[in-house]
Amino acid sequence: MITDSHGRHINYLRLAVTDRCNLRCAYCMPEEGLKWLQRSELLSYEEMLRLCRILVKEGIEKIRITGGEPFARKDIMGFLEALSQVEGLKELSITTNGVLTAPFVPELKRIGVKAINLSLDTLDKQRFYDITRRDELERVMDTLTALLQHEIEVKVNAVVMARRNTMDIIPMAELTKDNHVDVRFIEEMPFNGAGKQYEALEWDHVRILDEIRSRYPNIHKVKDAPHSTSYNYCIPGHKGNVGIIAAYTRSFCGTCNRIRITPHGRLKTCLYDEGVFDVRALLRSGMEDEAIAGALVAAVKGKAVDGWEAEHTRHAGNLVSESMATIGG
Ligand code: SAM
Ligand code: SF4
Repeated sequence: MITDSHGRHINYLRLAVTDRCNLRCAYCMPEEGLKWLQRSELLSYEEMLRLCRILVKEGIEKIRITGGEPFARKDIMGFLEALSQVEGLKELSITTNGVLTAPFVPELKRIGVKAINLSLDTLDKQRFYDITRRDELERVMDTLTALLQHEIEVKVNAVVMARRNTMDIIPMAELTKDNHVDVRFIEEMPFNGAGKQYEALEWDHVRILDEIRSRYPNIHKVKDAPHSTSYNYCIPGHKGNVGIIAAYTRSFCGTCNRIRITPHGRLKTCLYDEGVFDVRALLRSGMEDEAIAGALVAAVKGKAVDGWEAEHTRHAGNLVSESMATIGG
């Protein structure tokens, strides 16, 4: 079992398989100029599988594949299938922007992927283009339809941005009316690849909830799953719930059970740290699995108590501003 020095049991890995993406969401990366990792800098599928096997043996039960855009990496399905067969892994899930995902949905169902987070910030074609800088709303909606048809649990994640898509909060919440889908609204974080200081957050979780409540005064709180990062609410008569993720105000860190591996193989024990350990170097050093496991377990011990502390551990001048695609979200 992996535990940190605050007594938290760590059983959830978020693994970013690429930094590349076919969208350019304004909150995540600049339109151009990002330096993509070279192939040799990325963990290979073999390295990731080995790492996952090691971590599952140590107590990781759930793995979420993310990126960049996971389906933008060549041969991702072969990797997912191999990962789904790792002994001891209880849950394999994926976060995707949905542009390339629809054709893979039957295959995902077959290999046992039970839950997909679909990132979608608006249902309006023009605003989708303005936010993502690509005209791909239709293909994302096809993915949503395919996931629902195949009864794969789907959560839609929408980043709320002042002056960009706050008018979409209610239409997005309406998706929960007739569909078995949860819609979660995420506070915008500074991980935008722009390398500049973050401006004060205008739409925090309180304001987002007020907006939802103004349309649905009868919403009520439902019990959140253990380790949930979202505060969840039921709108009477709706099939799905709405949730709010206080990703910037960081009020959920106390029950954190997760670690992250970046596309270039750094261990992050908190979203807000700058990467605490070079796992890729270990995997390429000829070290035995047991020794790698020992090093990883020791590194996780030092996990910060919360995202604020993690942010303070950054080196001077290294502001939180890297693209979320280099972390995995
Ligand atoms: N490309 C995939 C996708 O968009 O679902 C997976 C990677 S993406 C980095 C993972 C999640 O991070 C997405 O739900 C995205 O909306 C979220 N995200 C990216 N940048 C963010 C930011 N600055 N603030 C809040 N959420 C962000
Ligand atoms: Fe790509 Fe996901 Fe970042 Fe959007 S949020 S640019 S889809 S990695």
